[in-house]
Amino acid sequence: MSLAEQLDTVTASTAGTVDRHATAQTFESTNPATGAVVGVFPVHDADAVAETVATARQAAGTWAALGYDGRRTRLAAFRGYLARRIHELADLVHRENGKTHADAILEITLAIDHLAWAGNHARTVLGPRRVSSGMLAANHASYLEYRPLGVVGVIGPWNYPVFTPMGSIAYALAAGNAVVFKPSEHTPAIGAWLAAAWRAAVPDAADAFQVVTGFGETGAALCGAGVGKLAFTGSAPTGRKVMAACAETLTPVLMELGGKDAMIVDDDADVAAAADAAVWGAMSNAGQTCIGIERVYATSAVYDRFVAEVTAKARDLRPGSDDDAAYGPMTMASQTDVVRRHLDDAVETGGRVLVGGTVDGRYVSPTVIVDAPETSAAVCEETFGPTITITRVRDAEEALERTNANPHGLAGSVYSNSKAKAMELARRMKSGMTSINSVLTFASVPALPFGGVGESGFGRIHGEDGLKEFTRAKAITRKRFSLPVDLMSFGRPAQATDALARVMGMVHGRHR
Ligand code: NDP
Repeated sequence: MSLAEQLDTVTASTAGTVDRHATAQTFESTNPATGAVVGVFPVHDADAVAETVATARQAAGTWAALGYDGRRTRLAAFRGYLARRIHELADLVHRENGKTHADAILEITLAIDHLAWAGNHARTVLGPRRVSSGMLAANHASYLEYRPLGVVGVIGPWNYPVFTPMGSIAYALAAGNAVVFKPSEHTPAIGAWLAAAWRAAVPDAADAFQVVTGFGETGAALCGAGVGKLAFTGSAPTGRKVMAACAETLTPVLMELGGKDAMIVDDDADVAAAADAAVWGAMSNAGQTCIGIERVYATSAVYDRFVAEVTAKARDLRPGSDDDAAYGPMTMASQTDVVRRHLDDAVETGGRVLVGGTVDGRYVSPTVIVDAPETSAAVCEETFGPTITITRVRDAEEALERTNANPHGLAGSVYSNSKAKAMELARRMKSGMTSINSVLTFASVPALPFGGVGESGFGRIHGEDGLKEFTRAKAITRKRFSLPVDLMSFGRPAQATDALARVMGMVHGRHR
């Protein structure tokens, strides 16, 4: 029986899928399309979380001692396991999160690619190296290396239940840490599947990656369990609570808090391509994408053509749970209320719904809104649904001004056929990531860091920065030979600092 099949059959009494702590309380995860139970999971309390972190701490020593090569081969075995069972995992993602099987395959593919990059680059990025000792310590050798933190706690979201947490898990493991992962209460089966896959693929370091399940209290317990760092993805209000809880134990945090990403469509853009990308960026995964396109600013020169293209494409999309559907149901029932509120507010404040605007159970129709004021919820708050607002602007400068006025700053997109102008707009966009003439591409480039500014959080996963995020820099100097005069000794002659002052004057004093 496959792991996914086992999860289908677990009951409250066999909820041991992930539980080794005999926790009495359990909860169900359900299929958002059908309501069928996907799995039953324990609610891990603070004691169970502390016990798991203690086991992980022991495993962290063994895992770190394997060195870069030992970890690289084991991370390769893990990604090999995921790749061989990609359809099994995609099926589980489809059932528990609701996204289409095809989108689940894409998500898992990205996660596998990041696992490969993290494992293969950890030594080069983090390994010991000699650095120049400079003039003042020329008689010393200087070394820099990036040491693991021990155990990293990861609190993950439900919208990309494989890709997003793996951005922390893969990089933290590659850097030599053990990981305790608390998946969202909406996607615990996927988290449990990943942990079971790890145990099967890497049996000699099985405790280096473990999962705990439960609600917010379980996440809060992980914050207080003495982990070396806590990587959080979710909403800004919960992010603030996580930071406050972590402050109690001075646990450092990484915050990935969502966005209100904009696309700028300039006068010289390929309008058809921009419209195609905007619709996919806004509506794939039912719009439940932190780096999804939520608002578009199109210049007057292209606005009418862009709106016509977007509406035509959006009308062609059909939500559903079958293989031909463009996107699935909302994963969280409560998210439909947020979408409804944003739609109502947009219409009440003067916006016009050109396509869609209806909510049927868990399904939100593809929705295109124009003329919504900048102060409306649909334009300024994260909607997290298959909706897009389009606003006419004078020129790209005004588009950039409006883009940057939002307190979020996760990602964004620029469409322009002028390389120089697009690059300049991308640089000036207040966001951690920007794609030119595409959407979301940076997430598929493992060498590029991922993370936001402002209300979108701080810290970076992916790339060199993502590896360093889960380490502490360690500096070492080693005296190679003694100098006739040691400046850092009470025995130095009085005239030594006068000589030093003269040297400083010669070397630096000429700069004005
Ligand atoms: P939350 O921010 O409430 O939850 C995110 C994660 O934190 C979940 O695993 C959650 O567990 C956990 N958690 C909740 N409370 C605590 C706590 N006090 N201490 C520690 N961990 C906690 O997001 P939701 O899933 O409720 O979604 C709400 C909104 O957040 C969405 O509408 C969307 O706008 C945004 N969001 C953004 C994401 C992104 O990618 N940036 C991802 C997901 C959501 P549990 O699920 O068990 O409550």
